[in-house]
Amino acid sequence: MIRFLMGAENPNISDGSGLMQMWLFLYGTHLSRYLVFAAAVYMLFYVWRKRKWAHRKIQQRIAKAGMIQHEVLYSVLSIAIFSSFIMMIALCTHYGLTKIYLKISDYGWGYFALSIPLFIFWHDTWFYWTHRMMHHKALYKTIHAIHHKSTNPTPWAAFAFHPIEAVFEVAFVAMVFVIPMHPLALAVVGLHQMAFNVMGHSGYEIFPQGFVQHPVFKWLNTPTHHNQHHQKFTCNYGLYYNFWDRVMGTNHATYETYFNEIATREKVDNDSAPESVSMAKPAYATSQTTV
Ligand SMILES: [Zn+2]
Ligand SMILES: [Zn+2]
Repeated sequence: MIRFLMGAENPNISDGSGLMQMWLFLYGTHLSRYLVFAAAVYMLFYVWRKRKWAHRKIQQRIAKAGMIQHEVLYSVLSIAIFSSFIMMIALCTHYGLTKIYLKISDYGWGYFALSIPLFIFWHDTWFYWTHRMMHHKALYKTIHAIHHKSTNPTPWAAFAFHPIEAVFEVAFVAMVFVIPMHPLALAVVGLHQMAFNVMGHSGYEIFPQGFVQHPVFKWLNTPTHHNQHHQKFTCNYGLYYNFWDRVMGTNHATYETYFNEIATREKVDNDSAPESVSMAKPAYATSQTTV
């Protein structure tokens, strides 16, 4: 696969058919990954465990009709843009313009292992600051509002961005012009990104009580953290880690209280409960902006 992308087994890489073949391959791979992750999380939380885990649903109301279609449509479009950008990176690599390397022995296993958290930290930083930029009034209404149309997001919202924002979302990969990266390390970064994005939009809190006060785990963003961003808009901008929000003081003042309120809700026997009504009445949620 890697050799195919870099042109080693794709001699027509620089002509139209080779490029189309590569784009279809990238699009197919990225789209399937999104569909598998989002569908698995959706089926688990919204279908199979819907009643059993009702107390863990962050916002107790169900998403507005038509919202999932909006989330899927924009995500599918964003993935086409991501694939085009990655195809350009692969082309540049074919012509020796990036620092992507194919032999792990070129930099060793130590560097390979280190390059993954380094790239993830870079992505976390890029995301935080471009996300804050997207909340500037000049960009919010025309671009970022597409993502915020989901005020009660589902896993399908993971990539529901305006096409311009989708370019910003994938542009962090351009760091391969500066930092040597193996394609396998980039694939791990991609999977990590997919898992966090789907989890952050899942609408369900999966972590236990006290998680956000734990000396180590408090640095990890929770589904509640991003869900609260979709409710309150001007807080909780981070993606993976709670580093930049803590440094910049942009965590919502009620984030920890809200998380603990959700994590301590009592599980109720929901077997006889109606489909869309919460059994675990969230006292806090009544003051939220929900759909
Ligand atoms: Zn979001
Ligand atoms: Zn936002």
